[in-house]
Amino acid sequence: MFVSIALNIPADKCFTYEVPANLQSAAQIGKRVFVPFGRRKRTGFIVSISTSCNLDNVKTVNAILDEEPLFDTKDLKFYQWIADYFIYPLGKTLAELIPSGSEKKDFQWIVPAPAPADAAPTSAQKKILDLVNSHPRGLALNDLIRQSDLKNAALIARSLQIAGLVRIVAKESKQLAIRTQKIIDLEATARDHTKLTSRQQPIVDYLKHSGPTELHALMAATNATSAIMKKLLEKGLLTVSDAEVIRKASLRSTLDRPFQDIALNDEQKKALENICRFTGDGAFHPALLHGVTGSGKTEVYLMAIEHVLKTGGTAIYLVPEIALTPQLISRITGRFDGDKIAVIHSGIAESVRYDQWRQIRRGRINLVIGARSALFAPLPDLKLIIVDEEHDASYKQDDRLCYHARDLAVVKAKFANAACVLGSATPGIRTFYNARTKKYAHLELTKRVNDNPMPRIDIVDMKAQKEMHGKTPILSDALIAAIKETLNKKEQILLFLNKRGFDTFLVCGDCGYNFHCPNCAVALKSHLAENLVKCHYCDYSQKAMPLCPKCRGSRILNYGTGTQKLERELETLFPGAHICRMDSDTTAGKGSQEKILSALEHKEIDILVGTQMVTKGHDFPAITLVGVISADTSLNMPDFRASEKTFQMLTQVAGRGGRGDAAGRVIIQTFNPQHYALKHTRSHNYKSFYEEEIEFRKALTYPPFSQIINLRLSSTKQTILAQTAEELGREARALCMRHGNTVEIIGPAESPLAKIRGEHRMQMMIKGKDSRMMHQIAAKLMGEHATSTVKITIDVDPENFM
Ligand code: ADP
Ligand code: ZN
Repeated sequence: MFVSIALNIPADKCFTYEVPANLQSAAQIGKRVFVPFGRRKRTGFIVSISTSCNLDNVKTVNAILDEEPLFDTKDLKFYQWIADYFIYPLGKTLAELIPSGSEKKDFQWIVPAPAPADAAPTSAQKKILDLVNSHPRGLALNDLIRQSDLKNAALIARSLQIAGLVRIVAKESKQLAIRTQKIIDLEATARDHTKLTSRQQPIVDYLKHSGPTELHALMAATNATSAIMKKLLEKGLLTVSDAEVIRKASLRSTLDRPFQDIALNDEQKKALENICRFTGDGAFHPALLHGVTGSGKTEVYLMAIEHVLKTGGTAIYLVPEIALTPQLISRITGRFDGDKIAVIHSGIAESVRYDQWRQIRRGRINLVIGARSALFAPLPDLKLIIVDEEHDASYKQDDRLCYHARDLAVVKAKFANAACVLGSATPGIRTFYNARTKKYAHLELTKRVNDNPMPRIDIVDMKAQKEMHGKTPILSDALIAAIKETLNKKEQILLFLNKRGFDTFLVCGDCGYNFHCPNCAVALKSHLAENLVKCHYCDYSQKAMPLCPKCRGSRILNYGTGTQKLERELETLFPGAHICRMDSDTTAGKGSQEKILSALEHKEIDILVGTQMVTKGHDFPAITLVGVISADTSLNMPDFRASEKTFQMLTQVAGRGGRGDAAGRVIIQTFNPQHYALKHTRSHNYKSFYEEEIEFRKALTYPPFSQIINLRLSSTKQTILAQTAEELGREARALCMRHGNTVEIIGPAESPLAKIRGEHRMQMMIKGKDSRMMHQIAAKLMGEHATSTVKITIDVDPENFM
């Protein structure tokens, strides 16, 4: 028997191995195996099995690592599709998508040995020997080589081995495996055994009464010691068996809201009926649910899920990572059987994910909720996938396998003949285009629930403010007046600050020196509260300096507005108000976000200052004023989607206000008051925005009228990077010419973030309509130019051009 194995290596092919007779009955597609590869051993997945093989010198499988397969041939078709589309090796794709822990590998371990009497090590040998001797239990050979700083450390270690001064042994790293526990039961003869001591009797009684019990629980319940247990086992009165334990993530939430039975309005009913119909006929149905903010989309999703579960199907419910809040989870767990729900996101331990994965495959789970990676959950009988806030950028993974979970949700539904509902108040342009062109069904919720009006939006021209005040104020007169008024009415305020690029930066007022990160091509940001300056791309930080390092001047100027600076400004302007900041700094601690949200709910906060974090899905009923400090950074991003992203961001922030009974008001500050993204935000008119945006896309042949594949190059060596990029560009253009120039090459050019964590970065875009040809070109370029010095990441349908 032979198996084809996909290994986690950057090569787009599988390798054939022979299965020895004793392992043949266990060999199955979807299981992990341990196989020799080069001089090492590695882990891979079985992707096919055959009885013959026409290769010579086929190596043999060492071990099969799983008791049950982690995927089947149907799943494999989907993974293969992903690997092909995103131009990523199958083995690496599987390693990325299937939770199987860190790879089992073999490695070399070096331990001290008693020195022979005549040993006379050289000075280099002595250096290595001292290192080894400082680790009495030994250390990994690779760690030794790294720590020694000697170029030929490996050779010296071998020479020490020959001299008998150290031992080098082969070891294997542990693999992720199932966890078991010991279950104790009574042996049949023990039931009427009479000669038991007073300490033994309670154990037997307990088991008689309660049946098989886990060892530690039994000992705790009967106050038994290990000695007593051992004795009973020796007497043959007890039996021991191993049972699998399923590791779980906690679903508990401190923000339990009671489950209310809600009567849907007519629009919601119609949308729900359609979705239920789509899940019932065993065919593929993609749909857009376009509903304004607060129109009750979530309620529709939950009822659709309820319908699917009732009819024996299963469902996946994706939300943006940041929206996976206690509020949402409590809304869901209060409604469905918690034992059959799996929550999947990046914060969940790999061992839990591994157990969840197998439970899902076994059919023990019927609803999976989670961030983008939850899409891959191998649910049998999948009938419905919901992608909430489908426009959200967090569905896109930007490194390794650069997939888009929203796009893959549609593909997965197609493979599974299921319904896929993409929901948003501000759908991505491509999604809406697909609905317009009838590729997707188009469901609409045009009204807010309870007929709450949409908030009134005012746009403040900051140019006029600058002229009036001589400099640009953080808060315009209009916003200050509105805050005052709202505080007087004892209502709540949300101030939104788009953190990206809108932080503070520091400049020396005398010589113009810019405080920048030594590892990244970005300015350092000041963090007043901790008296530090920090880089937001790597973890570099230093004490905020009183003097300029270049001219020793003391006039360090702080430009821009960060959340902290805004918070201080508010404290000065509104001394009595309770102000709270919600950003990645204040929500780093566990439960801190919940605390802020609960304080808000209990009206302990008057003004909430927040970043992106507040735009996602939270429901703040008592907020009546929303202020956007600046719409401009987002508009000025070097990205053809800048207008789309700005419109989405502003509409989402605006939608946080006026959800309760009081009408909402929104004030947006900008230097571009005439921009169409702002104009249509103001009139709450997605469709007019779409009409203008789609014309722009069409005129410049941007997606959805073309496709883009971005090749990102990075290296610590700038000259080699530039050389490689130049060659890549030349060859790309030659390839395009050969294909009749139907595909356009843009770049290569330095990325807007030209250096991050010491890596220089460049990019080159392939743009055109012939997807297949573009894929071929990208794969060919990648294969020929990626080296160990220059890393190339292929990003198909990129979202991020920084
Ligand atoms: P969306 O997801 O469209 O922004 P939600 O589903 O979160 O809106 O609904 C907003 C609020 O309105 C929630 O508190 C929800 O419980 C409530 N709600 C939804 N549908 C109805 C309805 N038909 N009647 C009354 N309240 C509703
Ligand atoms: Zn940095």
